[in-house]
Amino acid sequence: MRKLAAGNWKMNGTGADLAEIEALKAAHPAPSAEILICPPATLLARLSEAAAPAIASGGQDCHAAPSGAHTGDISADMLQDAGASYVILGHSERRSDHNEADADVAAKTRAAWAAGLIAVVCVGETEAQRDAGQTLGVIGAQLSGSVPGGATPENLVIAYEPVWAIGTGRVPSLDQIAEVHDFMRAELATRLGADIAAGIRLLYGGSVKPDNASEIFAVSNVDGALVGGASLKAADFSAIIAALETAPA
Ligand code: PEP
Repeated sequence: MRKLAAGNWKMNGTGADLAEIEALKAAHPAPSAEILICPPATLLARLSEAAAPAIASGGQDCHAAPSGAHTGDISADMLQDAGASYVILGHSERRSDHNEADADVAAKTRAAWAAGLIAVVCVGETEAQRDAGQTLGVIGAQLSGSVPGGATPENLVIAYEPVWAIGTGRVPSLDQIAEVHDFMRAELATRLGADIAAGIRLLYGGSVKPDNASEIFAVSNVDGALVGGASLKAADFSAIIAALETAPA
């Protein structure tokens, strides 16, 4: 399994920020971990061109339909045409800002697969759900509702992103991360078989920074990270990539 450092630029980045990609490429000319940047859609084509071949690119969402009367939306085919090989789906900001339910995420995942994209499906509990002892139940329901049949290591990555850890500087304990990641691996094994489940990369996301990345990457069943704020500057993201590349297998 090749570990994955994925950057989610969210609604940040214009042409001037392509300089960060040049800096990343210079710092990682032959990365052993896979590096992925998901910029805003307006930057995807230019970034894809600038990033290839050492760095992959992806979208942050796609529509479930291949084309049609959906003003402002973007199809998976369009992402692929712009150079993407991945798409983030079901991010908690999409789930809350756009009322995306598990069934919507599953439909988008099917659309991503039909376009040949790898889906990075996000799951995660709110703070209230964690406080109520519902974390594993929530994650289990999101996994079964958001991931359609046919998942493989080649078409699916899962990102565990506790909602309360995103952009807050707060991070679960290493034991809490291990509990959820071990649980997700077991759930996928029950559903897909142990061999397929073993190859699906499980990312942790939520306030990953250069100074906490190494300890997070040493946690069992953590195969990389989905990084928001710290992916915007090459120096920070590069330190996270270096931590992933030197993490225990
Ligand atoms: C994210 O939004 O996917 C994320 C993990 O953000 P941050 O790293 O800024 O917490």
